[in-house]
Amino acid sequence: MDETKTGRIVKVAGPVVVAEGMSGVRMYDVVRVGNLNLIGEIVELRGDRASIQVYEETTGIGPGEPVTDTEAPLSVELGPGLIESIYDGIQRPLNLLVKAEGDFMSRGSSMPGLNREKKWHFKPTINDGTMVSPGDIIGQVQETTQIVHKIMVPSGVSGTVHKIAEGDYTVDETIAVCAAEDGIETQLKLMQEWPVRSARRIKNRLTPNKVLVTGQRVIDSFFPVTKGGTACVPGPFGSGKTVVQHQLAKWVDADVVVYVGCGERGNEMTDVLTEFPRLIDPRTGRVLMERTVLIANTSNMPVSAREASIYTGATIAEYYRDQGFHVAVMADSTSRWAEALRELSGRMEEMPAEEGFPAYLPTRIAEFYERAGNMQVLSGNTGSISIIGAISPPGGDFSEPVTQHTKRFVRCFWALDRGLANARHYPAISWLESYSEYLVDIGGWWAENGSPDWENDRREIMELLQKEVRLQQVVKLVGPDALPDSQRFVIDVCTLFRNAFLQQNAFDKVDMFSTIGKQTRMFHIILTYWRRGTEAIKRGATLVKLRKMKVYGDITRMKFTVPNEDLSELDRIEARLERSFDQLESIYA
Ligand code: ADP
Repeated sequence: MDETKTGRIVKVAGPVVVAEGMSGVRMYDVVRVGNLNLIGEIVELRGDRASIQVYEETTGIGPGEPVTDTEAPLSVELGPGLIESIYDGIQRPLNLLVKAEGDFMSRGSSMPGLNREKKWHFKPTINDGTMVSPGDIIGQVQETTQIVHKIMVPSGVSGTVHKIAEGDYTVDETIAVCAAEDGIETQLKLMQEWPVRSARRIKNRLTPNKVLVTGQRVIDSFFPVTKGGTACVPGPFGSGKTVVQHQLAKWVDADVVVYVGCGERGNEMTDVLTEFPRLIDPRTGRVLMERTVLIANTSNMPVSAREASIYTGATIAEYYRDQGFHVAVMADSTSRWAEALRELSGRMEEMPAEEGFPAYLPTRIAEFYERAGNMQVLSGNTGSISIIGAISPPGGDFSEPVTQHTKRFVRCFWALDRGLANARHYPAISWLESYSEYLVDIGGWWAENGSPDWENDRREIMELLQKEVRLQQVVKLVGPDALPDSQRFVIDVCTLFRNAFLQQNAFDKVDMFSTIGKQTRMFHIILTYWRRGTEAIKRGATLVKLRKMKVYGDITRMKFTVPNEDLSELDRIEARLERSFDQLESIYA
């Protein structure tokens, strides 16, 4: 090891260590810190003095101990075996570490991200003699029953492939050789590495214009996010952020899910760690982990690992996107991540900005969400990353910095409302405060999916829901009797819409998920009730008569009674509704 690249610790401040004698090292190099060989990363350089963010507990190390440069940036290993893994923020396999070392893993342990013993069956998709360049797919491995993992040429390698052969390989065995024009040969393996803080390269960004179906009606039908889009879910404690994120992880129409959990209380992540692996994919009947990578930070892990975890997650997501998959990244909660940033910044004695967060907080938030997108990848295929971040603003106050800055960089805002949660209206996504900026881009998608009028229909109901707020204020002041039937009918329809459509029970077998087909049919039935009801009232029908229609009960219950697989009952409800109005109108004709 080059002598100049080994320095000495001069100061230890919690997760931040300062070392001198570090001339020649580079920013973001990984270093080994102290006699315990802790893993750290250089985050600031002044002359030969380096500030190092340490990814492990620093108690017991002190001034004078050595710091050695590894001359490599913080990287993750990418290859078969990522799916179904549970990692900490710097890709150490948590389940294996715990198994090997007990609940309290010893420090300085470096366990590789990918299993070195497991053999994978590799099938080439190209022949010897094929010219390749970075990102090209050369073969595949069946990673889980659901995921056919594409093996790609790593960055910086191009030339002619030789000695490519089908067979069983571990991730670091040679599966082929690539000879560059100058004759230099590179051994190709099932795995490659990538520095977590840089985005992987792509060919082009494409407009995200397909809805990322989540099965959650208030999201898909009102505030949809796209494949390649960004969304945030801010909400006070107990308003249902975690349930929303779990619902998405279960139901989202993505090939791969990367779930980054940053727990506030110790037991919260433990729940995720024990519960998640047991979840069953209701569509396939198989465990959800077969398409999931879990990155977990419990509150007793060092804050640095939490800071790094979202980059580790984004890099793994990009690697699957590069294979042509649609990937969804869920981060719960980004507030805990921002707090890690704040603590590290404080330890480095940086000048604090708003509420003690560093001045670069907005840049870091932007960099994270920018890794989302619908992309043409290097191989020419398309893939996407959608990022959905939960935010837990202290006291539920959305004017705090993390919520405000995130709002600038994401295009969907799903605001969880304490009032709704208290009234047990779940998901407590406020239809008045939330928005999606993708509406224009996805009109075509709705038309292809059987709802060419979606944008207008949605607007009509949104306007009603806004009108209801004003009417409810009047009712509060003077009572409902002061309103004419036409206005009381608005309140009736909105109540119906809230109960029968917007509310969705995450724990009901049928209601937990609605296909787009079911959502649009349900939406249409309620819209018909509104349109024909208004017409009937104009002709003289009374609200009392409307409320007596038997079909009203069917509409309120349809979310529970009509299974996604067979929507024929919705046809019957709609026909019954039309008939009831025909009868009613015949009286007033
Ligand atoms: P947060 O993460 O915001 O603190 P949680 O996601 O833990 O809140 O939700 C708190 C509680 O609210 C849950 O334990 C559950 O009982 C209820 N809840 C939230 N969302 C739903 C839902 N969609 N359906 C039914 N119950 C829900």
